[in-house]
Amino acid sequence: MEIENIVANTVYIKARESGGQKKGKSKKWKNYLQFPHFMECRSISREIDISYSYVIEKQPIGKLLFQEFCQSNSDYGTACNFLNKIDEYETNDDDAEARKRLAKDIAAFFVIPAQSESNDTPSSSHVDTPQWYTAILEEEAIKTVTSSSEIVQNESEPASDLFLAPYKLVRAFLADRAFKSFLESPYYHRYLQWKWLERRPVDKHTFRLYRVLGKGGFGEVCACQVRASGKMYALKKLEKKRVKKRHAETLSLNEKQILQKINSAFVVSLAYAYETKDALCLVLTLMNGGDLKFHLYNLMPGGFDEKRVQFCAAEITLGLQHLHRERILYRDLKPENILLDDFGHVRISDLGLAVELKENEPIKGRVGTVGYMAPEIVKNERYSYGVDWWGLGCLIYEMIEGKAPFRQRKEKVKREEVERRVKEDQEKYSEKFTEAARTLCRGLLHKEPGFRLGCRRVGKAEEGAEELKVHPFFTHGDTTTGREPVPWKKLEAGKVNPPFCPDPRAVYAKDVLDIEQFSTVKGVRLDANDNHFYEKFNTGSVSIPWQNEMIETECYAELNEIYLPTGELVPDLNP
Ligand code: ADP
Ligand code: MG
Ligand code: MG
Repeated sequence: MEIENIVANTVYIKARESGGQKKGKSKKWKNYLQFPHFMECRSISREIDISYSYVIEKQPIGKLLFQEFCQSNSDYGTACNFLNKIDEYETNDDDAEARKRLAKDIAAFFVIPAQSESNDTPSSSHVDTPQWYTAILEEEAIKTVTSSSEIVQNESEPASDLFLAPYKLVRAFLADRAFKSFLESPYYHRYLQWKWLERRPVDKHTFRLYRVLGKGGFGEVCACQVRASGKMYALKKLEKKRVKKRHAETLSLNEKQILQKINSAFVVSLAYAYETKDALCLVLTLMNGGDLKFHLYNLMPGGFDEKRVQFCAAEITLGLQHLHRERILYRDLKPENILLDDFGHVRISDLGLAVELKENEPIKGRVGTVGYMAPEIVKNERYSYGVDWWGLGCLIYEMIEGKAPFRQRKEKVKREEVERRVKEDQEKYSEKFTEAARTLCRGLLHKEPGFRLGCRRVGKAEEGAEELKVHPFFTHGDTTTGREPVPWKKLEAGKVNPPFCPDPRAVYAKDVLDIEQFSTVKGVRLDANDNHFYEKFNTGSVSIPWQNEMIETECYAELNEIYLPTGELVPDLNP
């Protein structure tokens, strides 16, 4: 290995290891994150969404501040704890024992503390104190909780959504009474101060840059680190001249806008978008574990074992479900676009071909990668969500077989021939496929979109993932391959351990010197007209990822110890 590569890797690995801890932060980090005076932030209140569903249920910092606010009032606090317990119950869908225990805890919220009867001087004030739930829950809802809890104790597979009705009622209480007083409290002032920090302009000084990780169509992708927090990201550059030369302005903006809308643990997130003199920059979730193509062909030739295939397929299914619910077609599923993180969780990346459907109307357009495009795209017909289920079929096939269904790796074959195979040939299944894996791939690779798995469900077209989720490949175990049923809610909550974990000391990318250099772009000049487009791109931090960064890197916990301008101390949120 060349010395240059060794140095680049060492510096990068060191930064990665310190990432998220104090070591990665700049010495002056508190200067970067200095709260303005509260009066300066008040105007923000008029510019942002201040609904409960946004501030408390979507914004990570809003959620924490609200929880802390509620803990200072016993009724609000108990209501929060009740909802948290139900959430915990829902995400434990693979553990009957845990569910039984949690169901008991949930019912216990309505047990009236025993009055000491023997006591000859009962404190009458206690007897009359209303329980926290009397103002919130109807008699009926309380009965539901108690009886549901009893049912759970006798079931071998306790059902989901049992506590939905009381959940909604308690949530409505918090969203109304508690939220109104939250908005009057210092906790909300602090929220606005965080929003003010979040909305500051972002430029190249916000980050430190590290080694190149890969090469994109319009520029390099390298690792970077936020100076203030120490958090590591991937920085994807779109060189302005290259974008202009290829008239890719709309395309680039499309990628940025779709990324910014998506907040899923199974799709790469956009944390910042900014510009430099020469480039537009997308700052994305850093995926250290390399892409599936690298794993499949460099590390595991011959294919993954079934447990690993099931895990990847399930996480990608959740990623696609999220995109489809936002009415977004991804259109570019293939192994190199699926990236692994430090723990082995996978995310869909490169949303360059993604498109938003208007009112679920099918669209036209021959885009994608040869060998992965669905027959209806190849035939230039109108298409919809089904093309992504086809793409998933190709991917699952490739993970099992170690080669794609319609094209051998490095096979010299004309595009026309591959397209003919896609339209006409039945893909072949070797003994590597179990029965369940074969029927899954067969279903996904149905040539007719109307009969394809993921498209046959009556009802909402964007909910096709539900049809996959109940396929035996996901719901049934297999003793010969060690496959187990997928606990979907637990998986969605990020609580399932991946079957494969990347080596934390390895760099799953080509050597820096093997990544081709870009040629210089000739014959393009940037002028004032381009600024209009750059301005639309240069929007700075993206709210949810930015707030998560503040929380994960403990900037949030440390800064919340500071006194508010009013002289009050905001309590330590992570004691
Ligand atoms: P393009 O749209 O121009 O093809 P990509 O988004 O596919 O660009 O990125 C190019 C390469 O950069 C990828 O193949 C991968 O090696 C690397 N890369 C992209 N995004 C990330 C990321 N989030 N983390 C780590 N590496 C990445
Ligand atoms: Mg790409
Ligand atoms: Mg792209």
